Parts: sequence; C-alpha cells; structure tokens
Amino acid sequence: MKRILITGAAGFLGSHLCDRFIKEGYYVIGMDNLITGDLKNIQHLFKLENFEFYHHDVTKFVNIPDKLDYILHFASPASPIDYLKIPIQTLKVGSLGTHNLLGLARVKGARILIASTSEVYGDPLVHPQTEDYYGNVNTIGPRGVYDEAKRFQESITMAYHTFHNVDVRIVRIFNTYGPRMRLNDGRVIPAFIGQALRGEDLTVFGDGMQTRSFCYVDDQVEGIYRLLNSDYVYPVNIGNPDEITIKDFAEEIIKLTGTDQKIVYEPLPKDDPLQRQPNITRAKEILGWEPKVGREEGMKITYDYFKSLSNEELLKEEHKDFSGFIH
Ligand code: NAD
Ligand code: UDP
Repeated sequence: MKRILITGAAGFLGSHLCDRFIKEGYYVIGMDNLITGDLKNIQHLFKLENFEFYHHDVTKFVNIPDKLDYILHFASPASPIDYLKIPIQTLKVGSLGTHNLLGLARVKGARILIASTSEVYGDPLVHPQTEDYYGNVNTIGPRGVYDEAKRFQESITMAYHTFHNVDVRIVRIFNTYGPRMRLNDGRVIPAFIGQALRGEDLTVFGDGMQTRSFCYVDDQVEGIYRLLNSDYVYPVNIGNPDEITIKDFAEEIIKLTGTDQKIVYEPLPKDDPLQRQPNITRAKEILGWEPKVGREEGMKITYDYFKSLSNEELLKEEHKDFSGFIH
C-alpha cells in the first residue's frame, strides 16, 4: 500500500484530499496542529485502518516512522483574516514547515507536492495569470506574510529539486470553495452565505468591481491528484477560469439563498487584488485537466452544507481562538 503524508489534514482542502487518497486505496497519514482546522472534518476517517493522525506543528521537526511514498504539504492559514491574525505562524509554516517537509521527502525518497497559490501573482498586472508571470507583491503589506511565504516555499522547493534531486510538484491554487470551509474564516463565500443565513446584509468590499474565479473543491482535488501523478516539476495553475465581479457574485448569492438581503459597501482592504483569473492552458495540456463543476452547481452544494450547520455554529462570531498560538 502506498503511504502518503497530508499536512493541513483537518483543514478544508486537506480533509478532502484525505478522502480522495483513502478512496484511491492509499495509507493516509494526516498531520495538523488545528490552528485553523477542525477535527470534525476528518472524524469519519478515524475508524479506518488505513488512516492515522498526528497532532503536530510542522514548523517543528517532523518524524514519520516507516516508509513514505508521497507528501502533500497543505498546512497553512489560507484566509486573509486568518493570516492577518497569525502572521508569524503563516510565515513559519510556509518557510520552516516547508523546509522540514522537504528534508523529510529527501530522507524518505518521497515525492512532495506543495500547495502554492494565485497570491504569488499578488495584485496582477497580467490578466489572466499564466505560470510564467512573476507577480506584483507588496512584501511589507498585510498580505505579504502569506504571499512571500508562498513565494519562498516555491523557491526552496525548486532548490531541493535542483540540488538534492527531490521529486517535487507545485500547484498554484486559485480560489477554491465547497463544504467544510470554516463559516467564519472571512473568505467571501462563507462570509456571504453566513450573512444571508443570519439575515444580515452582504458586505461587499470596495466598489465590488474586483474579480475572482471560483473553483469547486472536487475539481481542485482532481487537478492536484493528476499533478501528483504526472512527471511535471514546475508550477501548474489549478482553478476555474469562470471570472465574476464580487458585486455580481453577491447578487448571485442573494438569488441562491432566496433572501431579500441588501448589499452594503465597506472599504476595500489594502492590497486586495483587483482581478484574478487563472490561465489553465498548462493544466489542460500536461494533465488533461479542466474544471467540470459550474458555479451554480457547486454553490448549491456548498449552500446546502452551510444550511445544515447548527444555529449555534451559525451565530458564533468566530470559533477560532488563536491566543494559544501567538508567538
Ligand atoms: P484551512 O485553513 O482550512 O486549512 C489549513 C490547515 O493547515 C488547517 O487545518 C490548519 O490547522 C493547518 N495548519 C496551519 N499551520 C499549521 C502548522 N504549522 N502545522 C500543522 N498544521 C497547520 O485552509 P485551506 O483552504 O484548506 O488551505 C489549504 C492549503 O491550500 C494552504 O496551504 C493554502 O495556502 C492553500 N490554498 C488554498 C486556497 C483556497 O482557495 N482554499 C487557495 C490557494 C491556496
Ligand atoms: N470580500 C467582500 N466581502 C466579504 C469578504 C470578502 O467583498 O465579506 C471580497 C474581498 O475583498 C476580495 C474577494 O471578496 O476582493 C475575495 O476575498 P477572499 O477573502 O475570499 O479571498 P482572496 O481572493 O482575497 O484571498
């Protein structure tokens, strides 16, 4: 049985990846320090014989007994609210954490795939974003802690490939959504759905003319699965090119939820990218991948998930207490 370590396993993407690799017959080792994740996302896996979980912070030395064939490094805060609250941890997990996992990959002879992001393009001056665009990032702005950690992560990953011959893969993930996102993590989809369910107005930042392109989680997981199994070591964009302004998206949510909420406008956060759309030519050519789930279908599934949460969960302002993690 192939053995795979998935860091960030209790998070949104990590938990879906655990499900997929279990389904494919792998022995899955999940690892997470639960800083933004939640064990409820993987509790259904605990009874399985081919799953085990380590409660561990990957910025500390990582040790896995026995052989390891693959590593998926998905541990990192991912929402702007999270990485504003825990900037040092965000920098450390992208740098020290990645260094530890590359070292582990090297001693185990394992293939490692790291989760990079469209944020490496910053507030992009090239549209749509191709993998050969170098980006436009404010190193010392509020998003710098995330963007630069991810840029460093890509650099150290390529260095381990070049100098230590480690077998690497790099996915640049564009905004991905679906069940198990944290309701109050501040990202736009849980934010809007939560507001609609609580009967609050939808908060659009800026004039709402900034764009995003949303990818449903099953498509993202399929792209990552194919990339891991490919022989391509350079970055690959995985995302859905269907671009929409945030204002139009808020209107879609109002329609979807059947509520009569209004849109209210709040200031645009500093360095909020004004446009984002993946060019997925490389993924199509190398992986034969393209997204299959449209926004209407994906958002319906996601809305049903959030609707199924308890009232208590819905009304909680923020159920993550970071105080124990502040370094
Ligand atoms: P998430 O917050 O739901 O999951 C991240 C997980 O990593 C959490 O369970 C958290 O507890 C864990 N973690 C954080 N620091 C850790 C540490 N030091 N040690 C161990 N575990 C740690 O976020 P997500 O959306 O699932 O994102 C997962 C990965 O995908 C991240 O690397 C993120 O940068 C990347 N990504 C996600 C998106 C997206 O749209 N969801 C877009 C681009 C990139
Ligand atoms: N946004 C918004 N209202 C909210 C939350 C987010 O208008 O309540 C906007 C945000 O300013 C950004 C877009 O939605 O332009 C996507 O934000 P998100 O935090 O989901 O991810 P980002 O792509 O910015 O990392």
